[in-house]
Amino acid sequence: MADAPEKIGPFTELAREYGPVVWKTLSDNLPRDLRWNWLLLMLAIALAIFLLRGGRGAKGADGRERRCGIVQFLLPKDIYTHVSARVDVALWIFERALKPVWALLLLGSLGPFIERSVIGALTSGFGPGPAIEPNLAWMLFYSFVLLLGYDFTFFLLHYAEHKVPALWAIHKVHHSAEVLTPLTRYREHVLEGPLYSIAAAIGYSVPAALFAWLFAGSITPITVLDIGLFTLVFGFNGAFRHYHVQFHYPRWLALWLQSPAMHHTHHSYLPQHWDTNMSVVTSIWDRLFGTLYIPERDEHTPWGLRPAEQADCRSFRQNVTAPFRDWYRMIRAPRSRYQPSSTA
Ligand SMILES: [Zn+2]
Ligand SMILES: [Zn+2]
Repeated sequence: MADAPEKIGPFTELAREYGPVVWKTLSDNLPRDLRWNWLLLMLAIALAIFLLRGGRGAKGADGRERRCGIVQFLLPKDIYTHVSARVDVALWIFERALKPVWALLLLGSLGPFIERSVIGALTSGFGPGPAIEPNLAWMLFYSFVLLLGYDFTFFLLHYAEHKVPALWAIHKVHHSAEVLTPLTRYREHVLEGPLYSIAAAIGYSVPAALFAWLFAGSITPITVLDIGLFTLVFGFNGAFRHYHVQFHYPRWLALWLQSPAMHHTHHSYLPQHWDTNMSVVTSIWDRLFGTLYIPERDEHTPWGLRPAEQADCRSFRQNVTAPFRDWYRMIRAPRSRYQPSSTA
């Protein structure tokens, strides 16, 4: 067995060629995060909703549905001139600038480490693996497992961010958005990037290692228009769920997949909406953890933190300093009002 060629997974392969390859992969992803193809798809669906519902279906800055003309429907002035939308832009620039750093440090090192460890454990426990020949069905299955793997680690981290006060102090920056724009997806505190990079490294590399052990050669996920299937689902969902137009799914589908409109309730500060719909893609984990909430059509969803908390988290500076201020208050008064969001 000592003579058998070492089995390596895609993360390790990438890390071995390090430097230019990793940087190229990361920089290729930089300007494409709001891809024209899914933004166009989003606008086409929004236009269809406008036509089907006779000008209804879009929400205003107050989170209330209203009837309006086409321009106001697609690009409402009260949302895009809101201070929250400006803070989105500033936080997006920070998030984009730091993303390659976190990706390089964590995805580029932790991913291969986990992958090697899992492959090593499987090989020592069960031998070199069955060396299955990959075909289209397996590739589709692999894409699906990767999607579920990341969806679950994302859910767990997001759930913890809502329930653990020290983590909520970081995540509340995403929830201090008082209006939703496609850029709100990237509205996060600089400290949140490393957390999600760790989650991504675990969520992708464990299934990647398992499949690298099972298959002969390397198995690749299915791509659509040169974009990974799961990247497409994440990207499209990420942009639309932070758009003010309500894109609902039929109830039977919403029980399995998160519709973009379901994220409107995640951002609402009403008690019945708080801590709901924490997954990105599937509804499976929310159902298992009892946090699924399927909103009615035109349900009022006032976005942001509860008004008392919002006043401290409006400007760019307030958002950047928010976790440090909260941690300081927690240390000074551990049993103060800085409790998990659901109990406050
Ligand atoms: Zn959240
Ligand atoms: Zn969000």
